[in-house]
This record gives sequence, structure tokens and C-alpha cells, in this order.
Amino acid sequence: MADKRDYYEVLGVSRTATDDEIKKAYRALAKKYHPDMNPGDKTAEAKFKEVLEAYNVLSDPEKRRQYDQFGHAAFEAGGPGGGGGFDFSGMDMGDIFGDLFGDLFGTRSRRQSNAPMQGAHIRTSVRISFEEAVFGTEKELELTLKDECRTCGGTGARPGTSPVTCSKCGGKGQVVYTQQSLFGMVRNVQTCPECRGTGKVIRDKCPDCYGTGYVNSRKKIQVSIPAGIDNGQSVRIRGKGEPGINGGPRGDLLVEVEVARHPIFQRQDYDIYSTAPISFVTAALGGDVKINTVDGEITYTVKPGTQTDTRIRLSGKGVPSLRNKNIRGDHYVTLVVQVPTNLNSEQKELLRKFDESMKGKSSEETEKTKKRFWK
Ligand SMILES: [Zn+2]
Ligand SMILES: [Zn+2]
Repeated sequence: MADKRDYYEVLGVSRTATDDEIKKAYRALAKKYHPDMNPGDKTAEAKFKEVLEAYNVLSDPEKRRQYDQFGHAAFEAGGPGGGGGFDFSGMDMGDIFGDLFGDLFGTRSRRQSNAPMQGAHIRTSVRISFEEAVFGTEKELELTLKDECRTCGGTGARPGTSPVTCSKCGGKGQVVYTQQSLFGMVRNVQTCPECRGTGKVIRDKCPDCYGTGYVNSRKKIQVSIPAGIDNGQSVRIRGKGEPGINGGPRGDLLVEVEVARHPIFQRQDYDIYSTAPISFVTAALGGDVKINTVDGEITYTVKPGTQTDTRIRLSGKGVPSLRNKNIRGDHYVTLVVQVPTNLNSEQKELLRKFDESMKGKSSEETEKTKKRFWK
């Protein structure tokens, strides 16, 4: 016992580690050294045992206190712990294995076999346009939904017969078996493979549902998509999921919304962004421009001397809030001044004259612009 490693060191945690930290460290190490993951590896086996032992002590507040005070002596013969060496018999092996296997294979389902349980949720998606997301819409989905079989009332047994008590588990839904392990005989509780935990077996299957108790049918479901919904958000429709078990409620249907891209508008939360072209004459002299919004075309009056990339805000022209559709975001429009191309000779001449008339004045203007630009 003299060269026994410190339990905290074994788990790689500090002496002040919380229960959660200890549990986390234990799970990671137990998985790493588990004999099933390292067949025939004696070192891993020894490490696994060491990890279990350390965890058994450190996860128990009373044992941990004793260990902190007396070290390994706490659990040696005649020590304050009163034990005769380390004893695995007090450990709940079923729990340890259940824990590990549940984690490793994702099959942890030790539910009560006859308790009412809500059915599983179903996920689906629907594609809508940008405008539909802004203003809300109604969509009809067609889905295959499970329903309790009417012929057998969900029992799965042929009408006139009924499921019989499972002979393998005696109706308990669980079987107990003992297994030789590294630590001696281990009692293991497992869901009965014969009846899959229900405690009943169907001898004579219902012809309509083939013994499953459920039938599938195509159903049309109306989905109200609220104004303001964004790409990736879901609408929940209660009670349209899988049927419940043992009289439990149905699960929900979760409809994820995929919003199509818009050729002009971009959305950021509740605001909309777009660009709009304006002629360089309008930019210079000011005037009315037509701008597309989700509410349709509007007329906006730009100020004389508007520079390119000027951003204007159309207050309340954005996306309605999901919580209150009367509150809307804003629409920001970046005005892009268009430089004319394909000028004819007359137009070119006019521009040259214009340029002439700006001489003198223009140098002053240019200096101002430069200063602003380089500031
Ligand atoms: Zn049936
Ligand atoms: Zn059974």
C-alpha cells in the first residue's frame, strides 16, 4: 500500500476540486482505460481499477473527508475508516457500467416501462421568401404522422387477443443477470430484450399495424409563420409530434424556417440594408429618387451635394419584431452615385463647359475634400 498513488493525482484534479470536476475527470479517464476499449491491455486494466477506486473515495463526501485527513491509511486495516483494505463490494457496479455504457453507446434509457411519456418531437423545415419572413405567412405542410392503430387500440395485438406477460422478465420489463468481471461477480440490470421493457409480448399480431400499435398516414398541417421570423428559427406546433406512450401526450412538431435570399435586401436582426443608385446630377442638385422597400416603392428627396455611399435611414421600414409586429426595425439605404457612360459629343461638350466654369472654384472645393479625406 506504501506506493499507492494519491487519489487526486490519479484523477488529475486539485485537492480543492468540486464534485463536478471530479466526476468529469473520472468519466474521461474511465472511458479511456475501460477494458472494453483496451482489450487485453493489463496496464489499462490496472489504471481503470485505480481510477474507479479514486473516484469511489473522492465522490463520497464522508470518504473524501477521511482521505483528506488520514490519506490512504483511512481505508487500511485498523485505520479510522475501519475497512480491511479497499473493498469494491460496496460499490454500485450497475450504476458505473450503466453510466459508462450509456455514455459510450448512447443507449441509456432506464425509464419506467409503464409510466406515461410524452411522444418524441418531430423536426421538419419549410422554405419561405424574404417578404414572407417579414410579414408572416401561412404554409401547408404534408407530413407522415404516426397515429395509434384503431384496429387494435394501440396494443399491437390482433383484435380479440391481447398481449401476454413476457415470460423472460415476468412482466417486469427488466432482466437481472450476473457477470464475471475484474472485480468479481457483478449484478447487472438490463432492459428485457424479449419485450423491450414493456413487460408484454404480442403472440398474435394486429394485421393493420403489424404489431407496432401505430399506423402512418399523410397529414396536411397548417403552419402560421409569424411576421419577423428569421432564417433558422423554428415554429413549434404543440401535439403534432409522435404519439405519447402509455397515455402520455403527443410530442411537438418543430418547423425550422429557411428564408430565401433576396436579390436587393439584406437583413440584420430587424433592420434591412440595401443600395440604391442615384444619378450624379440628382446627387449634385438634390431631388427625388425612387427607393424599393418591403412596403413597395417610395420617393425620397436627396439633399443637394449628396456624396456617393451616403447612408440614409428609412425609419420603421424594417422587419417587424416577433413579439410585437407594430414595432419595426429600420431600412438603411446606401446611395450610390452613378457616373454616366456612353456620353454623346454634345453631352461631353456640356461637361467640359461645366468643368471650365468650376475652375478657380473647384481648386478650393478640391482642397476641402482632400482635407476631409486625409483628416
Ligand atoms: Zn394494430
Ligand atoms: Zn420481458
